[in-house]
Amino acid sequence: MRAVCWEGTEKIQVETVPDPVILNPRDAIIKVTTTAICGSDLHIYDGYIPTMQKGDVLGHEFMGEVVEVGKEATRLNVGDRVVVPFTIACGHCYYCKEQLWSLCDNSNPNAWMAEKLYGYSGSGLFGYSHMYGGYPGGQAEYARVPFADVGPLKVPDTLTDEQVLFLSDIFPTGYMAAENCNIRPGDTVAVWGCGPVGQFAIKSAYLLGAERVIAIDRFAERLELASSQGEAETLNYERVDVLDALRQMTGGQGPDSCIDAVGLEAHGTTLDAWYDRAKTSMLMATDRTHALRQAISACRKGGTVSIPGVYGGWLDKFPMGAAFAKGLTLKMGQTHMHKYMPILLDRIERGEIDPSFIITHRIGLEDAPAMYRTFRDKHDSCIKVVMKPGE
Ligand code: NAD
Ligand code: ZN
Repeated sequence: MRAVCWEGTEKIQVETVPDPVILNPRDAIIKVTTTAICGSDLHIYDGYIPTMQKGDVLGHEFMGEVVEVGKEATRLNVGDRVVVPFTIACGHCYYCKEQLWSLCDNSNPNAWMAEKLYGYSGSGLFGYSHMYGGYPGGQAEYARVPFADVGPLKVPDTLTDEQVLFLSDIFPTGYMAAENCNIRPGDTVAVWGCGPVGQFAIKSAYLLGAERVIAIDRFAERLELASSQGEAETLNYERVDVLDALRQMTGGQGPDSCIDAVGLEAHGTTLDAWYDRAKTSMLMATDRTHALRQAISACRKGGTVSIPGVYGGWLDKFPMGAAFAKGLTLKMGQTHMHKYMPILLDRIERGEIDPSFIITHRIGLEDAPAMYRTFRDKHDSCIKVVMKPGE
């Protein structure tokens, strides 16, 4: 089959690789009908994620048709149309039973690698390095789905692929980020980053009752999408002092909650600069462009800072004193996908949201290498890319 493979930093190739086969009785094989490139894939593209190996198949946002089921993948039948969550979960461990699915104890056989690097690890992930299990991803014609009796969600034929694909990651991720803010009617929520995750955080903040959402980015088309999808107020962080502006817009108090939907790729933070700054602490302390530091500094007393943006390794010099003095709640982590997928499918079926609003580019697999660069560089007004393998 054809698959999008990682060959090194900024080196993506479409290659012919062996078709996946059932390895475990709880596996299923999915013929991928639609898949997407995620902001998290850019961390791999840019070389932030260790333990990648040449030839690894990328992609963790995918859906398709079940073509083969293992003996114990009892919930699925050949021919079912399913969306697959990007986190892999066994369904039986302490964390799965607590609905903390992305912390599953049994789906990452290489947890020790992440533990060595970061001191801790979460569940297995599709297409996301060997420290997350080394599972081949879904930017391919076929994918093997482990624990297929637990993860894949059947979707009705009345909805198109583009309406349900983002249940695989970014819609639940934006939604959990907003839910983590415990939004009350009348609340103001500020969202750093108007990429796909930020857009779904903004939509979800409104769905959960926020009165005002303030969206922060530097790309006009992303800010425009944020304001057209629920009338978010917008701030271009290259044009205004974000902290001053937020204070003014909230009567001096600060937003009730702040969402960091940026993560590692905060503007200006290349890998080298990141390490350099970590070494020279004064720079970190005074760097006002960093989204997370701004979010903590801006949030009102007693508010919540919610962090769906992905961080790895060490992040030095963030305003812990302000977080403590203001009694902030910090919430973060990989999304507990399995908890949110059915709830959000209901919202899509009820017509409360059509997630396809986010798509700007539609391509076949063979165009993936060029499109990774376009998406990374935010060229051509690119916000979200979907790919149709086999077309
Ligand atoms: P993206 O790269 O398309 O969007 C990031 C946006 O942040 C860009 O529009 C960029 O211009 C903006 N930005 C950069 N620096 C900024 C700053 N200082 N202030 C405000 N905005 C700034 O990526 P995405 O797909 O939207 O993903 C966003 C983050 O969410 C990534 O870190 C990704 O890894 C993460 N993510 C997390 C989960 C999870 O489970 N927690 C799941 C999916 C994605
Ligand atoms: Zn993703």
